[in-house]
Amino acid sequence: MIIGFDADDTLWHNEDGFQATTRIFEDLLDAWADPDEVGDRLFAIEKRNMNRYGYGVKAFTLSMIEAAIDISDGNIDTAQLQTILELGHHLLDRPAELIDDVVEVLEAVGREHTLMIITKGDLYHQLARIDSSGLKDHFWRTEVVAHKDPTTYRELLGLHGVLPREFVMIGNSLPSDVLPVIEIGGRGIHIPYHVTWEMEHADPSVADSHDAPMLDSLADLPAFLADWA
Ligand SMILES: [Mg+2]
Repeated sequence: MIIGFDADDTLWHNEDGFQATTRIFEDLLDAWADPDEVGDRLFAIEKRNMNRYGYGVKAFTLSMIEAAIDISDGNIDTAQLQTILELGHHLLDRPAELIDDVVEVLEAVGREHTLMIITKGDLYHQLARIDSSGLKDHFWRTEVVAHKDPTTYRELLGLHGVLPREFVMIGNSLPSDVLPVIEIGGRGIHIPYHVTWEMEHADPSVADSHDAPMLDSLADLPAFLADWA
């Protein structure tokens, strides 16, 4: 089988950094709005900017700056904007911090199967994280895509000569990693991360309509695959 791995929150920690940064951002703006309102307005701006900026830290940083100007009615000062930029830089510079047991799991699964990374987000940042993760040699291909939708998966598999029925995608997001792959005739395994970005929550009616397996942790993957028809 060809096994695709999502990267953020599947191979390394990601969303916890965004959430911690959001808490700091909420504190920074507490003179103008309470934390819940700051968080909600930031998320609304991120969502609105999605088609403009795509995913990732750079998009998030620009949205934080826009939200700060908006929430403070233009009263935020340059020192505070500088702090926001530094929050973004800190997230960008953070080395890939691996999820428990990743190396052992990739070694075990890689003995039986061919492995790919399929991740979305900012191209430059994702390539840097793939490099800094030290995991690259485990993978046949590493791909950074703009969207994780059925069309992208179909094209990507076609490009590499992989048939959907011999492809399994592993990831923490139902709407990005599991459901679109099932839609094109492949299979998916859902391994949730302890926190999920609001944009990655599946519509409950859709989430219940599939029968993809869910594992508690990545460490369970080798044994699960060995038994899975
Ligand atoms: Mg992910």
